[in-house]
Amino acid sequence: MSARILVVDDIEANVRLLEAKLTAEYYEVLTARDGPTALALAAAEKPDIVLLDVMMPGMDGFDVCRRLKNDPDTRHIPVVLVTALDGRSDRIQGLEAGADEFLTKPIDDVMLFARVRSLTRLKLVMDELRDREASGRRMGVIAGAANRLGGAGGRVLIVDDNPRQAQRLADELGVEHRPVVESDIEKAALAAKGPVDLLIVNATARGFDGLRFAAQLRSDEATRHLPILAIIDFDERPRLVKALEIGVNDVLAKPVDPEELAARARTQIRRKRYTDYLRDNLDQSLELAVTDQLTGLHNRRYMTGQLEALVRRAQRGGDPVAALMVDIDHFKKINDTYGHDVGDEVLREFAARLASNVRAIDLPCRYGGEEFTVIMPDTGLADAERIAERIRLHVAGAPFRVAHGREILTVTISIGVAATLGETDTPEALLKRADAAVYEAKAAGRNRVIARAA
Ligand code: GH3
Ligand code: MG
Ligand code: MG
Repeated sequence: MSARILVVDDIEANVRLLEAKLTAEYYEVLTARDGPTALALAAAEKPDIVLLDVMMPGMDGFDVCRRLKNDPDTRHIPVVLVTALDGRSDRIQGLEAGADEFLTKPIDDVMLFARVRSLTRLKLVMDELRDREASGRRMGVIAGAANRLGGAGGRVLIVDDNPRQAQRLADELGVEHRPVVESDIEKAALAAKGPVDLLIVNATARGFDGLRFAAQLRSDEATRHLPILAIIDFDERPRLVKALEIGVNDVLAKPVDPEELAARARTQIRRKRYTDYLRDNLDQSLELAVTDQLTGLHNRRYMTGQLEALVRRAQRGGDPVAALMVDIDHFKKINDTYGHDVGDEVLREFAARLASNVRAIDLPCRYGGEEFTVIMPDTGLADAERIAERIRLHVAGAPFRVAHGREILTVTISIGVAATLGETDTPEALLKRADAAVYEAKAAGRNRVIARAA
């Protein structure tokens, strides 16, 4: 998995060293020697990760980080701050500036690649979600509100069998969040599936293997996206590396520093809320993209795509496809007489009758206004005509009760039927024949079905 990494350091030798290490692992590297150049490159090139030195003359790393995180165009790019060894106050200041990760100088290769790999993975997910959200927004189905998402008031599950340490973590987090402690691993696994914003696991616990637990959470669909912060003894290098490999989001050195805990928790919770927000909007936008809002039927866009595929299959000798074009008779008069809202009610009631009178594999769609289509896979003209007749009877045969039962209307429809003709038929031609048949039905007095063989 390759990525583009922007390396920022005022010392030429440091830049060259990192560039060489990253290039050797097939990462693409961009470089900058000062803050303003880094900001310009980040905006223009949209790298996947920024490795940012803290100590630079002029604009320092904190400042660059803050600016990247305040700009909606670059906010999503993970920033790794490179700090002096033992730079505790640097780390806290960095987290406040919005940094995602830290590396200490001299840079350790294992840590470097573990961080880069885990951030690349995160970035891929975020990019995918952001892309889809952007297209949802273009289609006008999503309203943006991501900027309001904060990092306080989070539900934090602390999984630790050391009561004193757990209580200390809970007390510290309780200032800002709602922590809960669980010392039993089975109960913790259940609790993790509930509404939790962050899970903190003691990877040095005596009674259970915290890393195994973290790996299980990662592989379970219900907890796959839950942020996990592991408390680790940093002297145990293999376990530290292992933690990052299994996809723990962040690690805290034991003994836990309260300020660093607070800052890291806030970062994870903020990020979780952002991805949740994107994910929710995504579900909603996918739903909206294929559904007509008034009737709940498929929309024209969705129908067009499906019909395209079905007709192509029919052309290659597959099953025939039939299309019904359905138009409500004198619908304008309903609007004019009873008002637009009653008109809408009629459309909804009609849609419900339409949907309940076709097979599960048929696609009832709102084509536009008071015109509907039903696409029927694996159906020839004669069968389609019979189904159309059944629909017509179910509409004309029982009156529509609308306006809270105050109005009882008789509604009728005209239906045109067509089916694929062979290798040269197209979706457009099929719909055109069905449409022509509707016009014939209207001309012949409405409330009828006409099938068009060619
Ligand atoms: P015909 O029997 O020839 O089909 O006559 P009609 O009145 O049904 O057809 P026409 O195409 O003249 O009018 C359709 C009307 O449907 C006009 C339009 O204002 C109304 N309409 C379209 N979309 C909606 C909608 O979403 N809600 C409501 N209430 N009315 C709609
Ligand atoms: Mg019409
Ligand atoms: Mg009409």
